[in-house]
Amino acid sequence: MTETLIINGERVSASDNGTFEVFDPSSGDLLATVAKATKRDVDRAVSAAQAAMDSKAWGGIAPAERGRIMNRMAATLRERAEELATLESRDNGKPLRQARTDVQVAARYFEFFAGIADKIMGNTIPLGPGYLDFTLREPIGVSAQIVPWNYPIQIGARGVAPALAAGCAVVLKPSSEAPMTALRLGEIGLECGLPAGALNVIPGTGSEAGTALASHPGINQLTFTGSVDVGIAVAKMAADNVVPVVMELGGKSPNIVFADADLDLAAQGVSTAIFQNAGQTCSAGSRLLVERKAHDALVEKLAARAAAMRVGPGVSDPDMGPIISKRQLETVEKYVGIGTKEGASVAAGGGRPTDASLGKGYYFQPTLLDRVTPDMRVAQEEIFGPVLAMIEFDDLEQAAEIANRSQYGLVSGIWTRDINKAMALASRIKAGQVYINTYGAGGGVELPFGGYKKSGYGREKGLESLASYTQIKNVCIKYA
Ligand code: NAD
Repeated sequence: MTETLIINGERVSASDNGTFEVFDPSSGDLLATVAKATKRDVDRAVSAAQAAMDSKAWGGIAPAERGRIMNRMAATLRERAEELATLESRDNGKPLRQARTDVQVAARYFEFFAGIADKIMGNTIPLGPGYLDFTLREPIGVSAQIVPWNYPIQIGARGVAPALAAGCAVVLKPSSEAPMTALRLGEIGLECGLPAGALNVIPGTGSEAGTALASHPGINQLTFTGSVDVGIAVAKMAADNVVPVVMELGGKSPNIVFADADLDLAAQGVSTAIFQNAGQTCSAGSRLLVERKAHDALVEKLAARAAAMRVGPGVSDPDMGPIISKRQLETVEKYVGIGTKEGASVAAGGGRPTDASLGKGYYFQPTLLDRVTPDMRVAQEEIFGPVLAMIEFDDLEQAAEIANRSQYGLVSGIWTRDINKAMALASRIKAGQVYINTYGAGGGVELPFGGYKKSGYGREKGLESLASYTQIKNVCIKYA
């Protein structure tokens, strides 16, 4: 399989004909060879997007027509769901059913934002007799989007759909670890009638294509989804051109379980929140805060679940697939070692699976680290693997304090039958989303999503995301 870039409505090679290889993490086998965007390709893509903004075909299109194109994209994503899910599963390693969900969520983003394309309205502002004042919400222009490898089609659609709905043109740079479905999204856009340049897709490395895009003077907005360190660097590059940025960064999100919760329900929710996508989810519930009196019962349930999980190649639809790369697998392994050295005990998993048939892939067992204390590195740092750090607490005050003792603030979960307790804690938690007796990692197209503290700023998903892709122009008329 050889893949090209998509620039100005055409499939093109990189300017220097360079390529990179993409591997299937289930086996380490070569999956595809992909054109590697250079700085020149970034220039070409940004120019194509600028030209699309200035064109009648995109810049001058009726908003309802933008919506129609996006609805066709949603329908095409659904028609091709099985093919796209299989590709996502091979590229990223995730179980097929999770990849199927990702494709449905991607389709839903296009459908959701298609519906608002012709309803992005301004206000009239009363200034008194003789004046008419109104605002227009105009597209911000060229939106650069840099996305990670963990949910390529879902996160690709999450930023592209609101940007297109608002009338922006997009340059999308997927991760070199998993670029395949972002390219399919670009192709589907063209098939469904997006004019040339409205959506350009340029896989490449962070150090070349990523920096060239983030520091490009021709972009008008940047949405970055990835790690904190790269996010900080990217925000500085954009700042040099006074380009506004949405930062969707990492997390160390707590699931807080009280002794009065339905512990079976909580065990299911806590387990899915950490082991979905092998823990490689920004909003993974990677810390469990459990009320001391429920500790033994809950850990027993979680350990039984972890032990029963089938680990294997994504396309065989196991309960958990591989880690994205050898490097990331080694990081996960290193953190388990750090945790045990710090005094944590392994209550499930803790290493690579022993099954010889998995030998070539990058697998790790679903792992529970017990007796973790709030300041240990495994309780503070994002591991980005299937490792749950379990911490005990005695009362609501302490739960709130431990939950907030983190540089991150992305998502949190509260499990209790007492709504007063749940609401008291929800108001104390510093995180962009709070779930009560459920945990919504992944989906939630309609719900504003984003970080407090170092988890980022700005909001994706939901109608709030349109604020990033529009700018307000005030028009004031004096007529008497
Ligand atoms: P990463 O920061 O290494 O890379 C993210 C993207 O940035 C990739 O496309 C990469 O090529 C690009 N990049 C790398 N260096 C760059 C540079 N110097 N300049 C410009 N671009 C550069 O992150 P990752 O390993 O791909 O993803 C994992 C991280 O992403 C985790 O921290 C995770 O929590 C976070 N994440 C956040 C969200 C969210 O919505 N908040 C969602 C998914 C992942």
